[in-house]
Amino acid sequence: MKAVQFSEHGDRDVLTYDEFDDPEPGDDEVLVDIKAGALNHLDIWTRKGLPGVDLDMPHIPGSDAAGVVDAVGDDVTRFEEGDHVAVSAGVACGQCEFCRDGDESLCVRFHIIGEHVRGVHAEKAAVPEANLVPVPDHVDWEVAGSASLVFQTAWRMLIDRADIEPGEKVLVLGASGGVGHAAVQIADYAGAEVFATASTDEKLEYAGECGADHVINYEEDDFAEQVKELTGKRGVDVVVDHIGEATYQDSLKSLAKGGRVVTCGATTGPNPGAGLNRIFWNQLSVIGSTMATPGQVDDVLELVWDGTFEPRVRETLPMSEADRAHEIVENREGFGKVVVIPDSEL
Ligand SMILES: [Zn+2]
Repeated sequence: MKAVQFSEHGDRDVLTYDEFDDPEPGDDEVLVDIKAGALNHLDIWTRKGLPGVDLDMPHIPGSDAAGVVDAVGDDVTRFEEGDHVAVSAGVACGQCEFCRDGDESLCVRFHIIGEHVRGVHAEKAAVPEANLVPVPDHVDWEVAGSASLVFQTAWRMLIDRADIEPGEKVLVLGASGGVGHAAVQIADYAGAEVFATASTDEKLEYAGECGADHVINYEEDDFAEQVKELTGKRGVDVVVDHIGEATYQDSLKSLAKGGRVVTCGATTGPNPGAGLNRIFWNQLSVIGSTMATPGQVDDVLELVWDGTFEPRVRETLPMSEADRAHEIVENREGFGKVVVIPDSEL
């Protein structure tokens, strides 16, 4: 089969689309004929190399994909040949205290397909049965292959970890990215008043279409000041911040008393000043979130399959142009998801 791959960490020129041994599904695995995959910012980090993550080279990147079941291992019970499936990339052990308690994304052995083990940007992938979700036949491959990681991440952040209530004010930073545009849709669906930031007016228009009530161009305006102005100095109840050092202090400033900031990433760096004075005086909460439990994945993807939520596709490219796909994500061009399709499917 052909697969996107790299044999050493580095810039985009380490990526190739070449022959790779066909995967052999284990007893608890499903062989999936991949129809479409999508990129996440995680793919950029993985390609560049993450501290403490030692990959089997060559590595196949990619945490999101969907396709048709080609074969199943002996112990697989939920799927058969011909089923449409999407990958849910979080792998849990099923045995630690957190897994046994039904909170698999807290698993002590938690890891992610594409980040810690070989991913799915290839013509075929062998995926554990537990990491596949059924997809109704009417759903487009681009939607099926691009929704899982960002919608599950945003869903757990807002619905479970931040536990947003109808009528609350929710600020989503970086609304043009995958998680951002999913968070805007989910906050709107949950009945929140949604504030969104992005870097261009075109991206803000898309954010509005996704459900943002107020949009802020952070290149032109200080978003914390804008939030204060738009809320009569009160601030918002929740900030979704996956940006980190560049935004964290302004996220704290944007919060109303008792507010909470929920984070699932730190693309500009993980160590902003803690801002403890603001945290104790205003009684703020800083909440972490990673991926989601299988039940949460089912809940949110059900709402993608029925059209309530929609991953917006900014560009679709053949897998042989994976370097260009990485470039779009890295440079934050456009709005939403970048989809990659095996060249043989085009
Ligand atoms: Zn576990």
